[in-house]
Amino acid sequence: MGWVDVEKAAESIRKTLGLLDDEISKEKFIKGYCEISNITREMYDKYFVALPCNCGDESCRGWATISNNEESVKLHLEFHA
Ligand SMILES: [Zn+2]
Repeated sequence: MGWVDVEKAAESIRKTLGLLDDEISKEKFIKGYCEISNITREMYDKYFVALPCNCGDESCRGWATISNNEESVKLHLEFHA
């Protein structure tokens, strides 16, 4: 109950104050993913989408590459966002 509101407040603060940082780290994440997977940015944008991730994996860097379809995005948002 109460904690949901705190989460929402924190989220809107992050969005207001930290958007630029978030966008930079997202771009870094995508760039790194493209390099590791040996794909172009155009391919990434066509087939994948980068979403904030909170999966708890120790290799997780706060972003996840998800297949660019509704089902995958929905599943990710449900379990890891
Ligand atoms: Zn993750």
